[in-house]
Order: sequence, then structure tokens, then C-alpha cells
Amino acid sequence: MRRMLFFFLSLSLCLPQMISVQPAISPQPSLLAFALQEMGSPSSLNRKYPHLFIMKGKGTAKEVALTFDDAPDLRYTPQILTILKKENVKATFFVVGWRAKAYPSVVKRIIQDGHVLGNHSYSHADLAKVSQKRFQYETEKTDEIIKRLSGYSPKLLRPPYGSIKESQLRWAAQKKYVVVYWNVDSEDWRGIGAKEVIHNVLDHVGVGSIILHHSGTGRGGDLSGTVKALPVIIKNLKREGYRFVTVPELLHIPRNK
Ligand SMILES: [Zn+2]
Repeated sequence: MRRMLFFFLSLSLCLPQMISVQPAISPQPSLLAFALQEMGSPSSLNRKYPHLFIMKGKGTAKEVALTFDDAPDLRYTPQILTILKKENVKATFFVVGWRAKAYPSVVKRIIQDGHVLGNHSYSHADLAKVSQKRFQYETEKTDEIIKRLSGYSPKLLRPPYGSIKESQLRWAAQKKYVVVYWNVDSEDWRGIGAKEVIHNVLDHVGVGSIILHHSGTGRGGDLSGTVKALPVIIKNLKREGYRFVTVPELLHIPRNK
């Protein structure tokens, strides 16, 4: 009995370290898995760390921030940049380190067009599942690459899949990062069509929304839905009186650490 008690006690002490913040889709077969999912939900982390784990802006101005993950690539990022330039909209691009290293000219174009860069890990790893050492490597290597290309160390960190442990969050805080989640998901990573992307965004958007899109993909990925949807989304929100701002502008924080 004492051994059982000890087991449960140590388990409950470990729980905060085991939390994954993935937008959980998989079925939860046990109570323990359910507890993990509950404790690690993005909104619970946001409640616990309101200045560190951000899901939306708190201001009352009619502002929204478009964010694009998995940048850059040679296919979709340039098309998205052309649309944003035409619409005179500034956005935030979360950069994967190896992609930035492979396609520096596209990152330069993001910078020249006045957008903001954030860190999205080096290899697009599921950070909650890697060691602390690997987590730090993924973050710091990408930081270096972004700094070399842009001249600044980004303050914004978005873990791939939104997946991060509390211990990693605390390390990020020490390093002056702000971890940026989202509260509107276009779900464009599923390769859905423009109509669905438009609905996913416009049906859920509000004051201070941080909207998740993707601007880069590997072989076989399809972001044409977002490319087609973007002008429609921007025009609709402009018509409703929304202003497009970068994440640092929305949160009133600097873009660099
Ligand atoms: Zn990603």
C-alpha cells in the first residue's frame, strides 16, 4: 500500500514535467492520459503563465495578427508575401531553422517586406518529447540563424504543434522568450480548400485574435487553400474594421530579446 502511495505521489509530482500541449486529437484511453491532456491544455498553460504562454492579445482595439508557421519554402512563402504586400498587411512568420538556412533569400524577403520573425525550432521537432538539451539546441540554433539573417534574436517562440513542457516554458522565460500559441486555427496544414480555410478563420476571429496559418510545407504538402483564402480573409476583416498587426505590436512587446 505504501509503495502504491509512493508511486502515485511521485507520479503526480512528475505530471507537470510531462505535459504536452499538442492540440490533442488522439483518443485518450485512460484516466491518466485524460489528466495529462487536461493539465497540459493550451488554455490551462495560458491561465498559469499569462505573460509567457500567449493565445491572443488582451487589448480592446480591433486588431488581429496573422501568423505563418513553417517558413520559409520556395513555393508558398513567396506567394503569401506577394499577397501581403498587395494588401499592405504585416504578419509574423515562425521560421524553421533548417529551412531558413536552406532558403535565406526568402527569409531576407520576409524581413525586407517588414514582417516579424519568430523561432519555430530547428528541425520542427515535437519539443515536449525531446530532452532538455535537444530542446535548447533546437531553439538556440534557430535563434543564431535568424540573428545572422535579420540582425536580431527573436523574442517570439512557437513550438511545433504548440507542444511544450512546463520545464521548457520556464527555460524560455529565463531566456526572455514569449511563447506564442494561437486562438484561431485555419487548419490549412490538413491541405483543405480555400472555402474551409476561410470559414475556419472568419467564424472564430475576434478582437486580439492570433490566427494560425502555414507558409511552408514539404513535398506533397498543399497550402494552396491558404493562398486562395488569404485575400478573401484580409478583405473581409478590413471591411469589418480590423487592423492587421504583427504579434509584437499586438502584445506591445519588442520583436527581439
Ligand atoms: Zn510548424
